[in-house]
Amino acid sequence: MIGAIIGDIAGSRFEFNNTDNFDFKLFAASCAYTDDTICTIAVADAAMNGKNYGDSLHDWCRQYPSPMGSYGCSFANWIISDNPKPYNSYGNGSAMRVAAIGWLFNTLEEVQIEAKKSALPTHNHPEGVKGAVATATAIFFARTEGKEAMLEAIKEYYSEWEEPRLGYNRFDETCQGTMPIVFGILDKATNFEEAIRYAIAVGGDSDTIGAIVGSIAEAIWGIPEQMYQNALKYLPNDMVTIVEQFYSRIKK
Ligand SMILES: [Mg+2]
Repeated sequence: MIGAIIGDIAGSRFEFNNTDNFDFKLFAASCAYTDDTICTIAVADAAMNGKNYGDSLHDWCRQYPSPMGSYGCSFANWIISDNPKPYNSYGNGSAMRVAAIGWLFNTLEEVQIEAKKSALPTHNHPEGVKGAVATATAIFFARTEGKEAMLEAIKEYYSEWEEPRLGYNRFDETCQGTMPIVFGILDKATNFEEAIRYAIAVGGDSDTIGAIVGSIAEAIWGIPEQMYQNALKYLPNDMVTIVEQFYSRIKK
């Protein structure tokens, strides 16, 4: 889960100002958490504390209405609504928020059921659900069987991956546009930090690619303790509480 948050924070300053520099500073003063972190926290809170996923997303996003980079337009309208309804989204938001689910449930079947439930309040388009289920499935396989088994399992969802080339990725906020580059990066990278650097230096929707890659990379390689501590410094206390609850639950 902190892998998603690290990717979001590191990518935050490049979302609308892309970089092709692989050696950028991961934790700069101008970095901040964005919507990807808030939604990741909301899904984790729901999965751990018996809340409805839609209610938790609505509550957390209303609590933090103006993050760096803002919310996407349709999602912002969903947050504002007092009676929010799913809007058939296939945006990559369903994939970037699902990290905790890949860890908190013990069987692949449960992970996939919960991932789908986390997508449906907003991302009820088949590609939106698929993005969430594939990401949670990747985390489950990575943490239980390792990287190669994960890459094999994920071909059921995304069979063609995109080779990461620095600065070449176009801005594409859809699941079907984002996931092929995510798995291309994870295939090529050899450790967590390298995966995060590729995720951001390819360009495009940097913070969200960072969050999705980071969530799966954590399950493959783990997170250096110093990076975990650095990321927590960017978060308000109520988010830190959820992160700490998560890691005490899964025994970091
Ligand atoms: Mg964002």
